[in-house]
Amino acid sequence: MTDFSKPAFLDGKPKQLLIDGKHVDAMSGERFPSFSAATGELVAEFALAGEADVDRAVRAARAAFDGPWSRMKPAERQAILLRLAELVDAEFGDLALLDTLEMGRPITAALGLRSMVRRSLQHFAGAATHIHGQTLPNSSPVDLLSFTLREPIGVVGAIIPWNGPLFSAVWKIGPVLATGCTVVLKPAEDASLSPLRFGELCLEAGVPPGVVNIVTGAGITGAALSAHPDVDKIAFTGSCETGQRIIQMSAGSVKKVTMELGGKSPNIVFADADLDAVIPAAAMGIFNNSGQVCAAGTRLFVERPVYEEVIARMAAFAEGLKIGPSLDPATQIGPLVSEKQYKRVASYLELGVAEGARLVTGGRRVTGGALDKGYWVAPTLFADVGDDMRIAREEIFGPVGCILPFDDFDDVIARANATRFGLAGGVWTRDITKAMAAVKRIRAGSIWVNHYFAMDPAVPFGGYKMSGFGREGGVEHIEAYLQTKGVWIRN
Ligand code: ADP
Repeated sequence: MTDFSKPAFLDGKPKQLLIDGKHVDAMSGERFPSFSAATGELVAEFALAGEADVDRAVRAARAAFDGPWSRMKPAERQAILLRLAELVDAEFGDLALLDTLEMGRPITAALGLRSMVRRSLQHFAGAATHIHGQTLPNSSPVDLLSFTLREPIGVVGAIIPWNGPLFSAVWKIGPVLATGCTVVLKPAEDASLSPLRFGELCLEAGVPPGVVNIVTGAGITGAALSAHPDVDKIAFTGSCETGQRIIQMSAGSVKKVTMELGGKSPNIVFADADLDAVIPAAAMGIFNNSGQVCAAGTRLFVERPVYEEVIARMAAFAEGLKIGPSLDPATQIGPLVSEKQYKRVASYLELGVAEGARLVTGGRRVTGGALDKGYWVAPTLFADVGDDMRIAREEIFGPVGCILPFDDFDDVIARANATRFGLAGGVWTRDITKAMAAVKRIRAGSIWVNHYFAMDPAVPFGGYKMSGFGREGGVEHIEAYLQTKGVWIRN
C-alpha cells in the first residue's frame, strides 16, 4: 500500500536548480509555481533557469565530460546505473506520488510503471559494457588497418514534456550514463519534481557532479539550451511545433537532434478480430493517462460488419471507467494536466460536434466534489468521423477517440497513412497474412498486432514522418548518443 503522506522531497522549500552537483537558485532569483492538476493547490515553487543558468549548467556538463567522467570505465558506469536502478526502485512509491501530485496521473497507473523504469535502468546498465566498433577490411594500396571507435557525443541537452515526467527523464538520462555523455535536462514546467529528484538520485548512485544537471524553467530555458553553441546534441520529446523550433535553433551549431513528437495513430479492427480483446485495449489505447499520450490510438478504423457493435461496446467500456481523484487507487481516469490543456481539449469537443461527427459518449467536463478543483474530461468517442475532419487529423492530447468505418483493406491502409504523423499503429485480425501486409504498409515507427501500446527498453520506439526521427529503446537508442570515428593505422 502506498503511503499517501507527502513524499520527503516535498519539504515546502522552493526547489533549486541542480548544477554541478549543487542546488543553486537561478541567477535572476526568479521562480515559477507548479500547481497540482488534481487539486489546483501549489505543489512547489521552482527556480526559473534563464540563459545564464543554462550556460552555467552547460559549462559544468562540458567540464565533467572532459574530466574524470571521460576516464571512467564502462563497468564503473554500469555499476552506477545498477545502483541507480536500486535507488529508484526503493523510492518508487514516492517518485510515482510526485508525478501524481503534480501532473495528475492516477496513482495506480503511476505505480504501474515501476517495473518498466527498473528494467530500463538495468537495460542501460547492460548497454554500458556493450559499446563496440568494428574492424573494417579496406582496399587501400598502402597496407592500412582500419577500425571504428564509438565515442560519446558529448554534452546533451534533453528537453522533456509533462505527460510522463519520471519515465521521460529515465529514458533521456539512462543512455547518457551508458555512453559516457553528460546532460543538461530541462523538465516541463508542469512536471519538474520527479526529474529533479531523479537527478539527486543520480548523485547518490555515484554519478560525478556535472554529469547530470537539471534546469527547471519555461520555454525560454529550453530555447537557451537548444541554441547553446556548446551543446552537442538535443534529445527532445514534445509537440511537433516546439520540435520544429528546436531544430531551427539547433542549426546554428549543427547539433545532432533526436525528436520524439506527436501522433494521430491509426488502430485498425478487421471484422474477424477477437472483439473481447479489442475493446479494452483499443479503449485504453485512447483513454490511458487521459489521452495525454503521444502514441494514443485515436483513429479507430473499424470494418463495416462489426462497426456498430464496436461503437456500442467501446462506449460501454468508456462509461465504465472510474473517473476520480488522482490519489484514489481505484481511479482510472484522472484530470488533464492544466486549464490550458483543458481549453484545448474542450475546443475539440465542440469542434467534433460542429464538424458533424456523431458524439457517442462523453464530450463533456466532469465536475462535482473533489473534481471541481481540476479539469476532468469524460472519456469521449466520436463515430462516423470523416477523414478530413480536424478531429481526425489533429492531435488532441485528451481522452477523445474517433471511430471511422471502412470496407476495404487497401482503402483503410491508405486512410491510415493519410496523416502527417507516423508514430504508431495497431492492427486487429486473426488472419496472419492480412496482419503482416498491414504491418509492412503502415508508415509508422511502432506497430502492435492484436495489442495496443507496449514499450520496452530493448525495442525501438519513435516516429516516421513528422512524428520525429531517432529511436528510443533498442540499440538505436544508444547509437543516438554515440558518434563514430574511423581510424587508420599503417602496418
Ligand atoms: P506542450 O505545449 O504540450 O507543453 P511542448 O512541446 O511545448 O508541449 O513542451 C515540451 C517541452 O518543450 C517542455 O519542457 C517545454 O518547456 C519545452 N519548450 C517549450 N517551448 C520551447 C522552445 N521554444 N524551445 C525549447 N523548448 C521549449
